[in-house]
Amino acid sequence: MITFKIRSSKPAGFRSVHLPAFKTMLSFILSLCLLLSGCGVREKEEDSFRIVTSFYPMYIMALNLTQGVPGVQVENMAGQQAGCLHDYQLQSKDMQNLQKADLFVINGAGMESFLEDVKQQLPSLPILVTSQGIPLLEEEDHSHEEESEHGEEQGSHEGHEHGEVNPHVWVSISDAILQVENFSEGLTEADPIHGEQYRKNAEIYIEKLETLREEMHQALDGLEDKRIITFHEAFPYFAQEFGLEIVKVINREPESQPSAKELAETIREIRETGVKAVFAEPQYPESAANIVAEESGAGMYFLDPCTTGEESPDAYLNAMRKNMEVLKTALAG
Ligand SMILES: [Zn+2]
Repeated sequence: MITFKIRSSKPAGFRSVHLPAFKTMLSFILSLCLLLSGCGVREKEEDSFRIVTSFYPMYIMALNLTQGVPGVQVENMAGQQAGCLHDYQLQSKDMQNLQKADLFVINGAGMESFLEDVKQQLPSLPILVTSQGIPLLEEEDHSHEEESEHGEEQGSHEGHEHGEVNPHVWVSISDAILQVENFSEGLTEADPIHGEQYRKNAEIYIEKLETLREEMHQALDGLEDKRIITFHEAFPYFAQEFGLEIVKVINREPESQPSAKELAETIREIRETGVKAVFAEPQYPESAANIVAEESGAGMYFLDPCTTGEESPDAYLNAMRKNMEVLKTALAG
């Protein structure tokens, strides 16, 4: 980048200015150019290992695993605005990005609904599924209000539009730990030269996650009323981990607005059950949660499923700590 800028401005400046000071500066710039654009940079590119993650939670794991490992690049395919990948449409820049990847790291469990397209177009791209082997929860009734309860066939996690399983595994800290383990193993297999460093980084990160989990158990286990209303279906694994009961979900299809009928039902349910807290999510407009809270008298707070946020290795840990504080406040006696 720097090299390119200096070089492109060079010809014009060279012809029009003849000051000795400029020549000195030019020779300095030239030697800098040589330093920066020498064959070292190219070699490094050839040596480097390029990880592309499907979305933010995988990206944060990758930042932890690759911390301090030279020559490893991490890129996040679906940018910050995407949040969860429900209905994410692959763009041509995504395919170009993946074409250059040495490893594509995904959540799996149906979260990446575009996976088949990627496999078809890039059959030789190695794909690492971090949710592999994690017991998956079935998606709850998925707005089939009028249909009779057939109990849908348990789906394979190749994922149809109606994900039969809930893909939000990373929101549980225990499952996130399993994902980090899978990630570290897969990454080591794909890039064995750095295997030892990946494993070491995984150990360090897992220890932090375990400490956090313990902290959260201490803060949340003793709460008497653990019933919550969440905005979208992101929290069943989290709820399972900390013994929370999700009484209702405001919007099962977070990309659209809940209908007036759905809102009314949620409000009625809160009035009947006396649930204290309604949780919006930072990634979606809070208007629906606001209406529900105002009409029902429940408090409104934010729970973060960690699908967007700061781009630092500790982002997930920080977001979860914040969730813990919010829950303590929201559910306190
Ligand atoms: Zn989601």
